[in-house]
Amino acid sequence: MKKKLTKKEALDVLDILEKIYPQAKAQLNFSNEFELLIATILSAQCTDVRVNKVTDRLFTEFKTPKDYINLGEEKLAEIIKSCGIANNKSKNIVNACIMLEEKYGGKVPDSFDELIKLPGVGRKTANVVLSNAFNIPAIAVDTHVFRVSNRIGLANSSTVEGTEKDLMEIIPKEKWSKAHHLLIFHGRNTCKARNPSCNECPINSKCLYHRKNMLNFRK
Ligand code: SF4
Repeated sequence: MKKKLTKKEALDVLDILEKIYPQAKAQLNFSNEFELLIATILSAQCTDVRVNKVTDRLFTEFKTPKDYINLGEEKLAEIIKSCGIANNKSKNIVNACIMLEEKYGGKVPDSFDELIKLPGVGRKTANVVLSNAFNIPAIAVDTHVFRVSNRIGLANSSTVEGTEKDLMEIIPKEKWSKAHHLLIFHGRNTCKARNPSCNECPINSKCLYHRKNMLNFRK
């Protein structure tokens, strides 16, 4: 049994997903790269819906890195507490804002290598900011993208970095950002962590996980 789809099969899968999820796009609300950076840090282990509720107020009152530095960790933690791990997120946000002020003139850098130097910013957050705020092709691998792409056979890796690399190889660059959103939508709607709805899944004839299960079933 093969471990990965061909590039042609990968494109077919993305075409089908695009038809099912024409609305697939970032679910976090933001109006500039700084807001997206804050929202993405807040989204760790939290739903986008919850983050949007919190940032609805946060972004009205606090607009620049200086605003967050002046607000301070403690007060920020209080405002964002419903997003979970608030003390940690608050510390990272304020420290990231200090770095933005000291090293980048208060602006969010548009480079992966610079973004991941910011406290609280890992590969996923950096790629989300690059692709959604700066329109620079990038594939952010979150829990859904990791699970779904390895099940389908778009990737074959046990690590986030390996999955990102596999996806960048198999998917044309101009589709990286779109693919990220499509895989998230499919993971939330059909290819759930527990009990994926394989029988109703429109890409089941291509999916290696499903094909393997069907072979085992027939044995
Ligand atoms: S067939 Fe099953 S495992 Fe494959 S993508 Fe669809 S839901 Fe996920």
